[in-house]
Amino acid sequence: MKNICILGSTGSIGRNSLEVISRFPDRFRVAYLSTNTNVELLRQQVAIFKPKGVGILDESLGTDFRKNINGSLKVFVGAEGMKELASQPDADTVISAFVGFSGLAPTFEAIRCGKTVALANKETLVVAGELINALAKKTGATIVPIDSEHSAVMQCIEGENRDSIAKLILTASGGPFLNTEKSKFGALTVEDALKHPTWKMGNKITIDSATLMNKGLEVIEAHWLFGLPAERIDIVIHPQSIIHSMVEFVDGSVKAQMGLPDMKMPIQYALSYPERLQTANSRIDFASLGAMTFAAPDRGKFECLDLAYDALHSGGTAPAVMNAANEVAVAMFLQKRIPFDSIPGMIRHALEEVHVRIADTLESVVQADGEARNAVRMKTAESR
Ligand code: MG
Repeated sequence: MKNICILGSTGSIGRNSLEVISRFPDRFRVAYLSTNTNVELLRQQVAIFKPKGVGILDESLGTDFRKNINGSLKVFVGAEGMKELASQPDADTVISAFVGFSGLAPTFEAIRCGKTVALANKETLVVAGELINALAKKTGATIVPIDSEHSAVMQCIEGENRDSIAKLILTASGGPFLNTEKSKFGALTVEDALKHPTWKMGNKITIDSATLMNKGLEVIEAHWLFGLPAERIDIVIHPQSIIHSMVEFVDGSVKAQMGLPDMKMPIQYALSYPERLQTANSRIDFASLGAMTFAAPDRGKFECLDLAYDALHSGGTAPAVMNAANEVAVAMFLQKRIPFDSIPGMIRHALEEVHVRIADTLESVVQADGEARNAVRMKTAESR
């Protein structure tokens, strides 16, 4: 029996995780749940899953929630509370599914405590990959990716010698604007951008998929998970999202991992790894699938790809700066304050403006994040 703590149980990954967990009541038990602000759904989840404790990141919502609790439910509030929640000794596996930079501190804490971390919050590795890996090595923590591309790579290299890997090929659906001309990008609406062709996900990652920044973040995530340099991590557009990623080996052989686009599969694999558990998930019907197609990404049209590769090459706090600028720009786009085609420019501005340092402490990463957020906000204020 694995006791599970979910950082972000009310989001898309959190809800899918609870569905997976409820299919295997003799394997997994929900020990802790948490949310940023969705207290209503958290309450419903508490009634169903009866955890030992919950976390609420928003201070005032959390304080209110705590006042109205009867019984023995532990309530953890605010950023400090989330760190405490992630380090509870009776949780074996922590599912890290907060959105963006807010996931870093509690995930860091879970790794400091030597837990198994099922990682959906890719930003944690993007901004602090080197620190996280060093810490995991020290504490014996295991990181198992939930991100479908990285789950695919992990499944492809299982049983292989690390030296046999020639390169990773991450697949990308191409998002909703794969066939939209760049000249039309300025007029694209939030509603257009939220219509992902194959995956159902939260808003932030769906916008990242529309700009292809999601794939850029995934290249950096793959770099830290699998220890390969950027030159050996390729991206190929595969609009059907059936192949979740591939690994090319030194003899030219390629392994691909396939499945229907459903996050419950990589979530389940992360929780059951290294075992596989029987489920009734829909199967691929190859005869009715028809063609699978592949194309090179258009780097001129989707500028975020090169920004991510450049940030990885620069190293240090550059990926943290890029990530923070992207988070602010995406939030502004979702609030209809900036057009879709300003997102890459905002990120480039932050990378030019903010001094890149060595990312050798959590504080240096937090500082870079803050400076990048300021740079983007000031730029937006100036341009009004
Ligand atoms: Mg992914």
